[in-house]
Amino acid sequence: MPELPEVETVRRGLLPAMEGAKIVKANVRRPDLRWPFPERMAERLTGQEVTTLRRRSKYILADLSGGETLILHLGMSGRILISGDPLGQFHHTHPAPEKHDHVVLDMSNGARITFNDARRFGAMDLGPTATIESHKMLATLGPEPLGNAFNEAYLIAALKGRMTPIKAALLDQRIVAGLGNIYVCEALYRAGISPKRKAGRISAPRIARLVPVIRDVLTEAIDAGGSSLRDYRQADGELGYFQHTFRVYDREGGACRTEGCPNVIHRIVQSGRSSFYCPTCQR
Ligand SMILES: [Zn+2]
Repeated sequence: MPELPEVETVRRGLLPAMEGAKIVKANVRRPDLRWPFPERMAERLTGQEVTTLRRRSKYILADLSGGETLILHLGMSGRILISGDPLGQFHHTHPAPEKHDHVVLDMSNGARITFNDARRFGAMDLGPTATIESHKMLATLGPEPLGNAFNEAYLIAALKGRMTPIKAALLDQRIVAGLGNIYVCEALYRAGISPKRKAGRISAPRIARLVPVIRDVLTEAIDAGGSSLRDYRQADGELGYFQHTFRVYDREGGACRTEGCPNVIHRIVQSGRSSFYCPTCQR
C-alpha cells in the first residue's frame, strides 16, 4: 500500500510529463476501478491543460484548465508508467497496452501516462476545483503532516482525552492525513513511545516530540523516493515503489538499532495490523 512518501514520489515523477501540458487524448478502457469512473470521463479530460499537479494526503490532484480537478488514488496496486520522450527526459517508447492498463493519457508534450491497476482498489474522480476539498474522498482528512497546520499544539489538542492506542490515533486520517502503518511504526520508535500507550495518557512534551519525528521520517522517505525516481526513469518508466530501509518496520527479531540496547524488535497485532517496536526503547 503506497503511503504519503510513495505518492509524493509519483507526483514528482509525473510533474514534467503533466504540469503545463494538455491532455490530447484520454483513453478510458473500462467503466470503473474501485468505484465507477465519473460520467464521460474521457470527454471531460480531453483538451484540458493540467495547470497544477498537487497532492493531498495519498491523493494526487490534477487541476484542469476548464475548472475541474482530477483526483487519483493509487489504492493497493496502482502503478503509473510514463513513456514517450518529452523534453528528452523519458527514454521509453510507448509499450503495447497491457491487460490492466485502465486509463491512458496522451499529453501534448509527447508523454503517455498509463495507469495500471491489477487489483482495482484505486480510484479516479472529477469534481469542481473550487470545492474539491469537500469531495467525499477528501472532506474528512486532517492536516497534512508536512504542512504548518500540523504542529505541537495541534497534536496535543487532537490527542487529548483519547483512550485509543497512539498507533491507532496516528493512523486515523482525521487526526493527521497520509500516515500509514510503516511510517507510524518508524515515528513511534524514534520518539520512544510504545505503540500500545493510550494517546490521551502521553505527556505533552512527549507528544510534541512526535511532530518533528513524523516530519523527519516522511521527508527522508521522500528524499529516498527522489533517488529511486532517477533510477526508475533510466529503468522502465514506472514511478512509485522503492525499497527503503526501516529501523523497526518488518524487522521482527532483528537487533534494536539504538546504541547499547540489548533488545530485539517485537511484533504485535493492533487493529488487525502489525506493529513493530522495541519494548526497551519505547515506553
Ligand atoms: Zn531498543
